Amino acid sequence: MSSYKPRQITIGGQTYKIRYKKNLEDFGVLDSDKKIITIRATLKDNDLIDTILHEAFHACLEISGLSYLLDDENKEEALVRAFDSLLLPVIKRELKKACKNRGNP
Ligand SMILES: [Zn+2]
Repeated sequence: MSSYKPRQITIGGQTYKIRYKKNLEDFGVLDSDKKIITIRATLKDNDLIDTILHEAFHACLEISGLSYLLDDENKEEALVRAFDSLLLPVIKRELKKACKNRGNP
C-alpha cells in the first residue's frame, strides 16, 4: 500500500491527472474543468486513498450532472462525506474479503 501513488485515475471513461503538492491547505482539490485532482503530498496510505476516492466521488457527481441537482457546495460535500464515512469502509472491507478468498479457494 505504501507504494500507492497514482498519477491518473479514470472516472466514467474520463482521465483525471493526479498531482501532489506540498503545503496544500485541503487534503485534496478537484479541478473539474482541467480534470486535475491535486492531493496534499504528505498524505500516506489510508488518508491518501480516502482523499483520492473522495475527490473521485466529486468528479462522479460532476460528470453525471447530479451536482446540478445538489446546486450547493455544502450539500455536495455532505453527500460525499456520507459516502466516505459509511459506504467506503464497507467497500474496502468487502474487497479485502474477496481478495483473501481468492488467495485461499
Ligand atoms: Zn469534498
